[in-house]
Amino acid sequence: MSFEIKCVDCGHAAPFFPTSNTCPRCNSQWREAVYDYDSIAETLPGLLGERQFDLWRYRELLPVRSPNPALKMGEGGTPLIQAVNLGMMLGCPNIFIKDERQGPTSSFKDRQAAVTIAALKEAGITEMVAASTGNVAISYSAYAARAGIKLWAFVTSLVPAVKMREIALYGSQVVKVTGSYDQAKQVAAEFARQRSLYQDTGARTITSIEAMKTIAFEIVEQISTLLGPAGTSSTKKQPTRWRTPTWYVQSVSGGMGPLGIAKGFDEFLRMGFIDRVPALAPVQAEGCAPMVQAWKQGRESAEPVTDPRTRIETLATGDPGRTYTLLNNLVRKTGGVFESVTDEEAFRAMHVLAKMEGISAEPAAAVAFAGLFKLVRLGVIKPTDSVVVNCTGHTMPAEPYILGDNWARNVILTSEASENIPQEGLLAALSNVAPDRFARIAIVDDSPDVRKLIRRILQSQGDFTLFEATNGREALELVDKENPDLIVLDLMMPEMDGFSVLDALKAKPATANIPVIVVTAKELTTDEKNRLKGQIQALMQKGDFLSDEFLEEVRSLVG
Ligand SMILES: *Cc1c(COP(=O)(O)O)cnc(C)c1O
Ligand SMILES: [Zn+2]
Repeated sequence: MSFEIKCVDCGHAAPFFPTSNTCPRCNSQWREAVYDYDSIAETLPGLLGERQFDLWRYRELLPVRSPNPALKMGEGGTPLIQAVNLGMMLGCPNIFIKDERQGPTSSFKDRQAAVTIAALKEAGITEMVAASTGNVAISYSAYAARAGIKLWAFVTSLVPAVKMREIALYGSQVVKVTGSYDQAKQVAAEFARQRSLYQDTGARTITSIEAMKTIAFEIVEQISTLLGPAGTSSTKKQPTRWRTPTWYVQSVSGGMGPLGIAKGFDEFLRMGFIDRVPALAPVQAEGCAPMVQAWKQGRESAEPVTDPRTRIETLATGDPGRTYTLLNNLVRKTGGVFESVTDEEAFRAMHVLAKMEGISAEPAAAVAFAGLFKLVRLGVIKPTDSVVVNCTGHTMPAEPYILGDNWARNVILTSEASENIPQEGLLAALSNVAPDRFARIAIVDDSPDVRKLIRRILQSQGDFTLFEATNGREALELVDKENPDLIVLDLMMPEMDGFSVLDALKAKPATANIPVIVVTAKELTTDEKNRLKGQIQALMQKGDFLSDEFLEEVRSLVG
């Protein structure tokens, strides 16, 4: 395998030893792997066709000499899923979710663990130390268990108990540090030093950065399949010219993900597989956003946050150190942006993602989705842009923030009835599962996509009976027949528009008092607004659905 480790500071190149973390010439800890890109560019496209879709398909670009089959758990090769409903809500159709939940321990840290532990195993390591905000420790523990390496996992006491138990279950020693994550890292470093144990060096770990690259490689292959390849005009004689998304959005803590992923895109660019790299959008939790603060103030280095104030402990790296400086350059170079969101915005995004796409992400990943929503609203991400958002799992600890107390309904069967439940007993037990009659809502819109979207938003709340009409005339027939409690009405429709529907409704005593919410795609003129005055209960803009306003309005009218 032909690659070497080059020092970022002095340029010295040395062979790779997984256990040596510094440049032999200047002692810098910032080094990167450099491969023989010309020869790999010749051979890799031909090899990929025969290889399984996991991260080892790019093994020529990874720092592991011979990937040990006994350590593999299907790492990498996660699906890229088009978020059709979110896209519709945002007016931005090409939104894709890189579903890293489908890794062995359901976070993208599995890639890092798979490659790093494989390299350490090759180097003969049997015991190691890592500090973590949770997910790294879980992934490392799983792979360390397979490799027979003992892991000392230093986590802050804020890490949810379910995550700590998972770490312990794999046989790692959990060390709870009551303090910030940055302090936990210091304690771990001191422990490793005293015992002369190998310690993971976070974003400076060559194998970790190299592992993260594979997310970029996969995205390029997958989005090219989904959207079709980019133009073929290539000066080089590459057989493949792949596509890149316009944006890569990820929530960040230490920033290792985007650093590695940017390196991946950059390597594909260098090899002529793609012709540009995506804009990077790292998103932080507002209560711990040292990078975003520095970015907004135009600074090259970040002021550490000593007292992180976020319930999303996975993202509580207060001191990004030099990673920010490197990432800042990359974000600027790619035309990207740093952004932050509040915990509340993240929890809301988590709920929206689950209800709209059936994807349950963990709060840390929801930060990225909340960032996406914000960037689309701000017009930074454009409707024609393609966007890939990194998504991970582990939802459990966040439910209380999102669902409240009454999220389940109880069916209680008495013990004597449970043997052979008579029909009436069962009916009685089920009577509190749902009311006999749901509020009836008519959705009137000529666009099938909008009807589907409104239906989905309402259905995600469970308790409505829904009807649809595709134009004004149909709407009036439907209202007469079904007697709805609420009408959600579009204004611009062929044949008979929303204004005429309103006039007809108000003209008949039976329908004059049915509440109406108007949903419109266009800015209304003063004249049109005057026509609606006193006639309707609320006016909503299409694309406004991401706020909870629409549902609150519906509930207040039919509840
Ligand atoms: C680790 C992690 C992050 C932050 O990743 P970095 O790239 O290291 O900043 C974000 N979300 C989840 C779910 C994570 O596990
Ligand atoms: Zn050096």
